[in-house]
Amino acid sequence: MGNELGKYTNCVSARSTDKEILKKAQDGGIVTQLFAFALDAGIIDGAIVAGPGDEPWRPRPIVATTREELLAARGTRYNISPNVSLIKEATRSYGLDKVGIVGTPCQMQAIRKGQLYPVGLRDVPDKIALAIGIFCMENFPYQSIVQLVEDHAGQKLESVKKMEIGKGKFWVYTERGAVVQLPLKVTHKYEQPGCHVCLDYVANLADVSTGSVGSPDGWSTVFVRSKSGEDVWSKAIAAGCFETKPIDQVKPGLELVTKLANEKISKNQKTVEERMKFGVGKGLRNPYIKP
Ligand code: FAD
Ligand code: SF4
Repeated sequence: MGNELGKYTNCVSARSTDKEILKKAQDGGIVTQLFAFALDAGIIDGAIVAGPGDEPWRPRPIVATTREELLAARGTRYNISPNVSLIKEATRSYGLDKVGIVGTPCQMQAIRKGQLYPVGLRDVPDKIALAIGIFCMENFPYQSIVQLVEDHAGQKLESVKKMEIGKGKFWVYTERGAVVQLPLKVTHKYEQPGCHVCLDYVANLADVSTGSVGSPDGWSTVFVRSKSGEDVWSKAIAAGCFETKPIDQVKPGLELVTKLANEKISKNQKTVEERMKFGVGKGLRNPYIKP
């Protein structure tokens, strides 16, 4: 394949140097730290993040304009947070001229499409100052998270402090110290069907993309992809926001990221082809592979 990791100018393993951010970050606190820095430095004047919603672990997109709001949104919520739906409101109701936004690879695609064809998004394209993409193998409907945590893992959703997918398992950690692991063969049937035709693992279209895979526990793998990504990343490094290690000096490193990206693409490409046989998904093709 060859282009499964997308274009990037720099790839490192990193973590925030801010202990408060790390306390509740999902991995190395890259997203929260980079937005907090960009906010301080005037590179963005707010960021659309997946804040806490009305029900436990159901995200609600919010426009964060303070460090406190960014910190309240730390951690991964494994269900859909329609962050892109707030873009117009961020520029109009909140009056932001420089918008940060975090999202899954499909959300990064939606943003770039909106910038190219701004139908209904007048005034928005030039105001997206920093798009941070998070790696994503699959996502779940909210009801599925309820079933997985309460029925399969036997824990009350409100008692959970972290969920994580890694090392071939779905992990549930509770505030009182219980750790439950579910094999991924249990979680598969709950995945969003739309994720089975998704051909991007590492947010190829983001300015900066990040995920846990490839780096040691508590650290993140970071791809810096665009000019604006390079600009904010180099300034954040100069300001001492991150500790970094060359990606080829950490385990398991880029080899595992590449393997998982290829697995996702080839598995989902098969689903695309199957769906085309019965006339669905004609427009779907892998933009990263030449026909
Ligand atoms: P933090 O500083 O903790 O901040 C996390 C940011 O992500 C916050 O701003 C929060 O608002 C935002 N966020 C949380 N949930 C969502 C959501 N549902 N949609 C949009 N934004 C959200 N990483 C991998 O390495 N491999 C994977 O296979 C993988 N799959 C993922 C699947 C899903 C559905 C999601 C949401 C994330 C996945 N990740 C995966 C990314 C990983 O879990 C972390 O989100 C990422 O490493 C960022 O961690 P951090 O410590 O830098 O971020
Ligand atoms: Fe979006 Fe793809 Fe992740 Fe599903 S797997 S949430 S479609 S990026």
